[in-house]
Amino acid sequence: MAHVPDPVRFQRLEEHAWLAAPGPDSGLNVGLVLGENLAVLIDPGPADGDHAGLLAGVRELSSAEIVVVNTHGHPDHIGANEFLRAQGVRKIWAHEHAGVETATDLVSSTPVTLQLGGGVDIVVSHLGRGHTAGDLVAGVRSGEAPGIMFCGDLVREGHDPEFYDSYPEEWVRTLGRLWSMAGNHSRFIPGHGREVDADFLASMRRRMQQGCNVSSQAIRDAVNDATKAIPIVPYGPGESRELITRLRGR
Ligand SMILES: [Zn+2]
Repeated sequence: MAHVPDPVRFQRLEEHAWLAAPGPDSGLNVGLVLGENLAVLIDPGPADGDHAGLLAGVRELSSAEIVVVNTHGHPDHIGANEFLRAQGVRKIWAHEHAGVETATDLVSSTPVTLQLGGGVDIVVSHLGRGHTAGDLVAGVRSGEAPGIMFCGDLVREGHDPEFYDSYPEEWVRTLGRLWSMAGNHSRFIPGHGREVDADFLASMRRRMQQGCNVSSQAIRDAVNDATKAIPIVPYGPGESRELITRLRGR
């Protein structure tokens, strides 16, 4: 008898938006937005994830055509693309600089609106470089009501932001743009961690600005050993080191 996967459970966030964290301790937030014609999966997860379970979970809620949006190109977010394409998913959106080889449709600086049917839209936007060179956010719209915003790793809750691939000073500006959208979107889903609000974005931005300032000053003061600044950068040692490395590499 064929193995029947246990469907991944999606938790309902609002009328059209859902969230799953597939696999034990994956820590990744997989978004799902349902319209009459399309079911949009946001960041379907790593290559070794429970893909069949994820698909079964989607199918419990909708039989609509599945479309994927990747918020950026890190493997823990995009690894499932290949499986989904093999299962007949025809459209995978990613930013043109995200390096997602499995993407079929690329977003540049112009936002793309996906019409899911039944008055549900997702606006996919690149607000500038930040966590990577190709970050996208996906904002849900239905009627007049502002909906959930899926932020990928531009926003990180419960853990320091990851800088190894980042553009820290541009990230500060991008967070400012995201914060300024708070009138339209007051609920933000990070790539990992719990849902946050606009105040969280503001404090994340302030801390990152402070981290950039302290690190840049240290680089100017001690060009050969800026790592001396690590204790005063407002992150853990590993991420502080990455931040300094990225700022030095400008
Ligand atoms: Zn990432």
